[in-house]
Amino acid sequence: LKSRILALKDHLVELRRHFHMYPEIGYDLERTSSFVARYLKDLGLEVKEHVAKTGVVAVLRGAKPGKTILLRADMDALPLQDLKQVSYKSRIDGAMHACGHDGHTAMLLVAAKLLCDVKERLSGNVKFVFQPCEEKFPPGGALPMIEQGVLENPTVDAAFGIHLWTLLPAGTIGIRAGTIMAAADEFHVNITGRGGHGAQPHLCKDPIVISSHLIQMLQTLISRETDPLDSAVITVGKIESGTAFNIIPETAHLEGTVRTLSEQTQKSIQLGMRRIVEGVEKAFDVKCELDYRVGPPPVVNDLEMTKLAQSVAELVVGKENVIEVEPSMGGEDMSFFLKKVPGVFCFVGASNPEKGIDKPHHSPYFDIDEDALLIGTQMHVEIALKFLGG
Ligand SMILES: [Zn+2]
Ligand SMILES: [Zn+2]
Repeated sequence: LKSRILALKDHLVELRRHFHMYPEIGYDLERTSSFVARYLKDLGLEVKEHVAKTGVVAVLRGAKPGKTILLRADMDALPLQDLKQVSYKSRIDGAMHACGHDGHTAMLLVAAKLLCDVKERLSGNVKFVFQPCEEKFPPGGALPMIEQGVLENPTVDAAFGIHLWTLLPAGTIGIRAGTIMAAADEFHVNITGRGGHGAQPHLCKDPIVISSHLIQMLQTLISRETDPLDSAVITVGKIESGTAFNIIPETAHLEGTVRTLSEQTQKSIQLGMRRIVEGVEKAFDVKCELDYRVGPPPVVNDLEMTKLAQSVAELVVGKENVIEVEPSMGGEDMSFFLKKVPGVFCFVGASNPEKGIDKPHHSPYFDIDEDALLIGTQMHVEIALKFLGG
């Protein structure tokens, strides 16, 4: 298999660079999804388009009956200007594949091609799921695809997904049983005080001073109310208030994110945040509104599926290159698939400092070591073969 994938390397890189040059965002993946659907139809697969707007699903039926495994790739890019200088840089102004989803799409297409070649050996089915809108929740792409029946006909027994990962070097695979990525919630707070002259605070209710108290208090939900051995993050990423140095503004608006590794901690931080916001409202005699938007749950890997993926990973990159990673506080809506069926999500190392490829995800200079594409493709194929006993 390794040599067959190696023979397809140029093709794989060409596909990835095509998606890289023409990134699309959110649900607006017309060009990408029709390319994907065309490719899958040319392989002779049953293809369903427009699942959750631009999602694409294809089914490969093996020669013998058996279970069904779902392999998932996300296809969306980010609203970001590509600043790197390479021949395949984004041709679309303000859009960029800065998370590696171009690679995910390319790897799964080539995996589909390879699995089609060996369908005589398969007992059961492979369902290829190409998802839109992973980067923006709500509603994301996974949940609406599930609601539109992607786990039925044939019924899915297990799911597998990959994220190319520049926090790990190319040639390695990161995996762990249990929680591997965090729940990712979003919150907005509106404080309505009373504006006036900067020299007369006693006649005003200053929403900027109140915001600074609120931000400090929110951090105590982590430092004083969360088990130190558990992990959680509250980040206020945006504050909007004021127009000039000598004016106390009328309002302040805060936005941020909450990351947690268990649904229990997610719940307790949400409740704590509400309690603190209500307390600040009373303490400062202002109006303080919290809009808390629950995002995707933690990504939780099934134990048996993790063992299977681990053994496949050892085959692909060697035991010494399979790393038991700590959970990432990043979020991923792959979690919705893994809540419904046992499955596993893993990180395929994609950085290579020697080639100058070492930028974090979502950086305007983000790139991947394309050698990692071979590893991801092989993972998809081998997992399907092993799960279906091919
Ligand atoms: Zn991302
Ligand atoms: Zn991503």
